[in-house]
Formats: sequence, C-alpha cells, structure tokens
Amino acid sequence: MSHLRALARTMGIVDIGAADADAWNDGVIPEGKRPKDVMTSCRSVVVMGIPLQKTVLDTAPSIYYSHLYSVVNSSLDIAAERIALELNILGHDAVYVPRDGYKGIKGLRADCSAFFSHKHAAVYAGMGSFGTNGLVLTERHGPRMRFVSVLTSAELPCGKPTEKSLCIRCSLCVRSCPSGAISPDGSVDSTRCLDHNEELAKRGVSPCGRCVAVCPIGSIASAPPSDRGRTTISGYVLRRNLNNRHAYRTTVQR
Ligand code: SF4
Ligand code: SF4
Repeated sequence: MSHLRALARTMGIVDIGAADADAWNDGVIPEGKRPKDVMTSCRSVVVMGIPLQKTVLDTAPSIYYSHLYSVVNSSLDIAAERIALELNILGHDAVYVPRDGYKGIKGLRADCSAFFSHKHAAVYAGMGSFGTNGLVLTERHGPRMRFVSVLTSAELPCGKPTEKSLCIRCSLCVRSCPSGAISPDGSVDSTRCLDHNEELAKRGVSPCGRCVAVCPIGSIASAPPSDRGRTTISGYVLRRNLNNRHAYRTTVQR
C-alpha cells in the first residue's frame, strides 16, 4: 500500500485508503452495484481523494467552480487509471471505476444512482462518514473531498467504517439548498437537485455546490474569496457569455 500511496501522491492524490470488497455484503448497496459485480476477482477497493479548493468553492455556483469540478474529476480519473495499471504490472487484476460514470443530467434522471458509489467506498474504507447533505464528511476537508475507486484482486490492508459521525446536524446545508432538496433527516430529493443543476447548466455554472460550500466540518482553513475576486468572477461569466476573450483577459490580469 505504501508503494501505491507514494505513486498516487505524485499524481496529486491527497488521501488514499482501501475497503474490503466483502464490506458490501452488508446489503446497503443493492446487488449489481457491488465491487464483485463489476470484477468477480475483486478483494479490495482502493479509494483515492482530492479536495476541492474552498476559496473557489465559496464562489459556487460559478464558472470558476465549474472548471475546478471538471479538473478535479479528470485528475481523479487519470490517477485511478494509472494505479490500476500499476496493480496490473504487479500481477493483480485491477480496473478503475470512472469518477462520473453516467450520461449527464438526462442519464441521472433515468437512474440517479451511480453504477458504483465512490462515496460508499470511502465510508467502507473508513475515510469519512455521511452527513445530512448526503455527502461524505472527512476530518480535514469536510464534504470537500471528491473520490474515485480502483477495484483489485490484491489483498490490501483495509480500513473499517467509523462509528463516529462527523456531522454536527447544524442544518446549514438544509437551509442553504436553493431547491429545498435536503431534509433535516438526511434524505436528499435528487429530482429537485437535478432540476436546479439543469438550470445552472444552461448558464454554464453547474454544479451548484452550495451544500458542499457551507458545511463547517473540516480542519483545513482557507481564505474566503475577496469582494474584488467575486466581482472578477462575475465579470468572467458575463464576458464568457458575450464570447469576448480580450475583455476576459484584461479583467483577470488586472
Ligand atoms: S447541490 Fe445545490 S441543489 Fe443540490 S442538494 Fe446541494 S445545495 Fe441543494
Ligand atoms: S452543513 Fe451541518 S448538517 Fe449539513 S452535513 Fe455539514 S455538519 Fe451536517
């Protein structure tokens, strides 16, 4: 595992853990979406995370956060593919699971559950616990950690789900959700969330991210964006819509 950790670090992975493939036998995840359904020889699931930069997230929804979201997802996919390949070279079966394996918002409307849940993999690996917002909260980054998974036949030292919940039930995510999708009991109405994100996508500023931004959990401090920074970002969105690249350049380079 230390070899994989070192390799993952070179690709920007900040947190890495592993979950026992048999942990999925607890029945929480339905059959057909468990690791051994994807790869029958799977014994362990490697889970890797990259945090979202809080300062950028605080501008969400914005074109700035939209870019960050894409970049982090791509970084996770690239790292997972490399780790799977390394495991193959070491003689193990291994396959990576794409970060977002669904067909856009239309695909999510047809089936809002991922074909493999990276969030549950992270919880089974002991890397965090679920919050009221339906996201995995981690000690250092709260819900601002995005995960990707690699299934492997290698028997790796695995973590266990933590008994302690990091969520303090402050309801900030409930009150901040613009579509009223989050209930205080922790259920999330995915249709409401999708409706809102579809509207944002038309303006090029999806995903929403408010329930990720407002959560107070996480020990890593970061400066909020300055007022001037917020103004610049608003200018970026406006100028992008006008397709005026020169104006954008002069704005951000001032
Ligand atoms: S992403 Fe936005 S709309 Fe969806 S649950 Fe979070 S706050 Fe609500
Ligand atoms: S904002 Fe509060 S209630 Fe929501 S997940 Fe974070 S700690 Fe829990």
